[in-house]
Amino acid sequence: MKLILATTNPGKVRELSEMMRKAKLDITVEGLMDYPDYRAPKEDGATFDENARIKAVTAAETLGEVVLADDSGLCVDALGGAPGVLSARFAGDGHNDDANIEKLLECLKDVPDSKRQARFVCALCLAFPNGDFFVVEGDCAGSIARERRGANGFGYDPVFLLPDGRMMAELSGMEKNLISHRGAAYQLVMPQLRALIKAPKQTL
Ligand code: IMP
Repeated sequence: MKLILATTNPGKVRELSEMMRKAKLDITVEGLMDYPDYRAPKEDGATFDENARIKAVTAAETLGEVVLADDSGLCVDALGGAPGVLSARFAGDGHNDDANIEKLLECLKDVPDSKRQARFVCALCLAFPNGDFFVVEGDCAGSIARERRGANGFGYDPVFLLPDGRMMAELSGMEKNLISHRGAAYQLVMPQLRALIKAPKQTL
């Protein structure tokens, strides 16, 4: 069966296709770049769950297909959960990962090591053409370091310190998948996808 991932990022589509292949699920993943006329809605939700739902439900109803959407980011305790849903543009629209990290380190410069707890969160929403949807959330706990380390990953990975002392950016892609917020969320949605293969006409 076909599953649309509500993204125009070919890397994310490849990653999910690979996951489906490894799980031996007969699911062909397409991205929104395969639907050039589709106009994605504004992601103006207050939470990751809400944003994932907005993306998935709108696309499923408009395209008449089963759609999976994700929304993720970083929540820092000492900043009251910020940058949260604004993680990608913490340093302002058009800023990059480097500027976001710079701003984060600046905001936390007077916060002691014992109070730098943070977590990555990933919400996934599986939505159906009839408006039904299902949301799961995975997270990964750690803290924010004072300096960057590691060359892998993206976003805030170079300053996200895991409880075992490794920086997220020091993990290989496979190691990261095993412990990451995204990996956790995908594990939670996998049973729904398996059920969908068995009963493609039903919603869950
Ligand atoms: P998106 O929802 O996957 O596009 O992620 C939004 C933003 O959250 C990214 O631009 C990153 O700044 C941050 N983020 C999400 N997941 C990760 C991760 O695994 N590592 C580092 N940063 C992340």
